[in-house]
Amino acid sequence: KVSLNGISKRFGDVRVIHDVSLSIRENEFIVLVGPSGCGKSTILRMIAGLESVSGGEIRIGGRVVNDVPPKERDVAMVFQNYALYPHMTVGENMGFSLKMQKRPGAEIESKVQEAAAVLGLTEYLHRKPAALSGGQRQRVAMGRAIVRKPQVFLFDEPLSNLDAQLRTQMRMELKKLHLKLNTTTIYVTHDQVEAMTLADRIVLLKDGHIQQVGAPVDVFERPANVFTGRFIGNPP
Ligand code: ATP
Ligand code: MG
Repeated sequence: KVSLNGISKRFGDVRVIHDVSLSIRENEFIVLVGPSGCGKSTILRMIAGLESVSGGEIRIGGRVVNDVPPKERDVAMVFQNYALYPHMTVGENMGFSLKMQKRPGAEIESKVQEAAAVLGLTEYLHRKPAALSGGQRQRVAMGRAIVRKPQVFLFDEPLSNLDAQLRTQMRMELKKLHLKLNTTTIYVTHDQVEAMTLADRIVLLKDGHIQQVGAPVDVFERPANVFTGRFIGNPP
């Protein structure tokens, strides 16, 4: 469903992504992991269309999207700093992108209700973000992505601002949500536990190069090199 064919990225003279190729299956939960600065966010942003591609090809649903604007890519991205609109209610925040697309009010209403039910936010739809907990706000941010029913979800460290307990709880909810919605998910984290518990396949990155791709248990038991072994918690 999503494929990266030898993609690279340069900022000026500095090359930060080197020849990354990956074929992601429909409904797969892919987790990109690696140390700070290895290029995780840059890869997500290129898939979302928020960053241009310096070389190679990105395909979504078979179509080359290198020159397709973000809005036409059928992807939705959830960020770490999920700024909600403070003056709008939860429901208005979730429906905002559909409103911008000039969808009919009744359609927006039903999609927001549906997403709120999935996320357990039904009773909060009329509240302002300031009156929510961190986990509830994070769910609203996900709700904004869900209402658009994208083919592909992109998550950039969505749980890193939450406390440990909430992070564990939201992790389980995320996994359930993925199974329920049947979408392709590409998830970025630098948390090994998160990667091990969420991923169908883990992609380990270092300095813009893929080091290893595999199911969590395979990567753990058979790290490709010293770096991946250390990173995944099974050093040589
Ligand atoms: P973190 O875990 O800290 O979020 P990351 O893996 O997401 O790190 P990226 O944000 O993708 O890393 O950055 C990869 C490299 O590209 C870094 O060296 C960064 O400094 C560089 N970089 C990112 N954006 C730009 C930019 N707009 N201009 C120049 N360099 C950039
Ligand atoms: Mg990042």
